[in-house]
Amino acid sequence: MNEYDSNRISDLVKKINYKKTKILSDADCYILNTCHIREKSTEKVYHDVGRVKKEFRNKKKPTVIIIGCVAQAEGEILLQKEKYIDAVIGPQSYHQINSIIKKIEKDKEKIISSDFDVIEKFDNLNTTKNSNNNISSFLTIQEGCDKFCKFCVVPYTRGPEFSRSIAELVRESKELVKNGAKEIILLGQNVNAFNYEGHKLSNLINELSKIDDLKRIRYTTSHPKDFSEDLIEAHKNFDKLMPLIHLPVQSGSNKILKKMNRQHTIEEYLNIIDKLKKVNPSIQFSSDFIIGFPGESDRDFKDSLELVEKVKFINSYSFIFSPRPGTPAFQLEKIDEKISKERLIIFQNFCEEIKLKYRKELLKKTSNVLFENRVGKKNEFFGRDMFSNSVITKSEKDLTGEIIEIKILSGNQNTLFGKICNESLKKEYAA
Ligand code: SAM
Ligand code: SF4
Repeated sequence: MNEYDSNRISDLVKKINYKKTKILSDADCYILNTCHIREKSTEKVYHDVGRVKKEFRNKKKPTVIIIGCVAQAEGEILLQKEKYIDAVIGPQSYHQINSIIKKIEKDKEKIISSDFDVIEKFDNLNTTKNSNNNISSFLTIQEGCDKFCKFCVVPYTRGPEFSRSIAELVRESKELVKNGAKEIILLGQNVNAFNYEGHKLSNLINELSKIDDLKRIRYTTSHPKDFSEDLIEAHKNFDKLMPLIHLPVQSGSNKILKKMNRQHTIEEYLNIIDKLKKVNPSIQFSSDFIIGFPGESDRDFKDSLELVEKVKFINSYSFIFSPRPGTPAFQLEKIDEKISKERLIIFQNFCEEIKLKYRKELLKKTSNVLFENRVGKKNEFFGRDMFSNSVITKSEKDLTGEIIEIKILSGNQNTLFGKICNESLKKEYAA
């Protein structure tokens, strides 16, 4: 979502004739978009601002603005601790960026903007052209969270759940497709909680499916509690909806899920997976896990390993519990750091084993790959299969934007390598 936000900030500042530069020393204004989900995020801000300070030691100081969830959470503290910073702007008020830049330039004032103006933000963004031209483009459809998991800062930094209007989302999707997008990844902290005046995520997917040149639709991140029957059915009804579902579970133990306030049990989670597999047996799953949440016993940890074994997630993202100030879990008694670290290693190794087995099964098989870009200056192209696995293929001809059947020949942990199978295409493209 930060990537979507950063692109939109870049679209907004074009209105005051600012444009992105890759050369730090060229910048008149330095904007840092931040994430606060795990610790060290605030330290990273000071570190990055230190880098800018060093770069501009003998030059005119650029305007320095911190945006995003660290800005929302730390607010004035950032301005007090680091005088080089000119403004802090929360994730729901970055639409004010242009007036803030102008004000800093004119009055040399320090500015804090931390309102949850989410309606105003999207009203403003809706009238700002989305210039993103990636083959696979992000689109924020929902923001915020009302779930209040005990460990998580999102409800405090992004505010309550908010969904954008279907009409605006269709309009912006068409804009992205006009710019070249073939795939749209619908984003939300609780993307399947999307509900605009009774229209749900499945309704939006239905509308987007009608856009001819849009070939693939994905959505992330879902919450098990919001996995409604209509969304399950959508995986039967819409071919454009890709069969990889990221469904974070956080723990395999009902005791820990309860302590986390996740509002579902493992049995309910597995029931969703069963139903999805019934409507579309090819569906695969990925998940997030928190290791070492307060109170996690050896048994609870084993429950998480057993869940991985059972579901065979093709990707699992795991993090040691990070106590976030202001969240209820911050107060809880932590478990020994050494134990958490040992468990994380065991967990990640186990997930890698599962992933490796899955990837071995892909060898010699074919899959449809949407190619996104050329790799450097080589005659090689990067794309993703339907399960978001990265695939690289050689070709004389530019494959960007095309969906082509590829035979997978080899692979490592992160990338699969393959060749074009179709004989006539092979002649046309093969390097
Ligand atoms: N809304 C999604 C859900 O309910 O699963 C997750 C969104 S959260 C922004 C992304 C991931 O960050 C979570 O799935 C969780 O695994 C991880 N995370 C959030 N807070 C954390 C914390 N305090 N410590 C460690 N990991 C955390
Ligand atoms: Fe955070 Fe997701 Fe829980 Fe909301 S549902 S509090 S975003 S982990």
